Amino acid sequence: MIRLPDPRSASRWCAQQRARCGDDALGYVPTMGALHRGHLSLVERAARENRAVCASIFVNPLQFDDADDLRRYPRNEARDHDLLERAGCDMVYGGTLAEFFPESENAAANITVNPPDAIIVSDTNAFMRDLEGAHRRGHLQGVRAIVERLFATVGACNAYFGAKDFQQTLVVKDLARAFDGIRVVVCPTVREPSGLALSSRNQRLHADQLAVAAQLYQALLAARAEWRAGRRERDAIEAAMREILRDARITLEYVAVRDPETWDDIWENTINDTKTNATTRAIALVAARIGAVRLIDNLRLDDADQE
Ligand code: AMP
Repeated sequence: MIRLPDPRSASRWCAQQRARCGDDALGYVPTMGALHRGHLSLVERAARENRAVCASIFVNPLQFDDADDLRRYPRNEARDHDLLERAGCDMVYGGTLAEFFPESENAAANITVNPPDAIIVSDTNAFMRDLEGAHRRGHLQGVRAIVERLFATVGACNAYFGAKDFQQTLVVKDLARAFDGIRVVVCPTVREPSGLALSSRNQRLHADQLAVAAQLYQALLAARAEWRAGRRERDAIEAAMREILRDARITLEYVAVRDPETWDDIWENTINDTKTNATTRAIALVAARIGAVRLIDNLRLDDADQE
């Protein structure tokens, strides 16, 4: 596996691979490192579906709303490189904030948390504003800003993202429309046997906290059980989730049920005086803190995925 130090050299390598393998044969997996089986499932899939695969490791300060979270974010580059290579990755690259955002004065200092005004984009899309957008100010803006630069670096490719960060996949799909030849592939969430979604931040949980964290998945399963039993009232499904998460060790930020395609949570149709959603699509989402660690997860309630 080739290790490249900056976006410029990565860009050249990607262009060479397209010339060698064709425009639709380069797979790309963006990450922030501290890799686990969730990340590697994306790389393995990219390796199965493409003739060349690259990944990036960049802990993007712009998407952190909390300097402490950024400081504590786990980093282990040597281990990550080894795992990437074994999963079938051909090239990994990184860079500094200043290399990705040469136009930003703040970036030169490499300490920015949240996007500086110079690179902020307008958030006209509903999915930029609420849930993650509301609870982590600037987070999705920061994601959008860096993914735009990562896409510009790699160019035409099949780009693999995890469903675990569902709102992020909406941002990324929206962004990809502005690029020629970038196809976004959303992959299923990889979980522990307990149901806990794998996350780099899980490393910061103690054994007893890991057991508490698994309740997030139980809450999502409760939502799905309600849905499968024919329940369509958003408030009732959310209440079933809250009921599971009534644990003093869990600080709940939100539970939500949305249409995963329109991001609609307005359940307009009134049947027998009850607001219901006529859609056949739904996704339940949750965010909570356990100690100092913030976790998010989600689950399709309809049968759109096989989890
Ligand atoms: P991150 O390093 O957290 O930015 O994640 C890099 C990519 O891996 C993102 O597309 C994530 O959605 C994806 N990812 C993170 N955790 C998981 C997981 N448990 N299962 C599948 N994909 C994941």
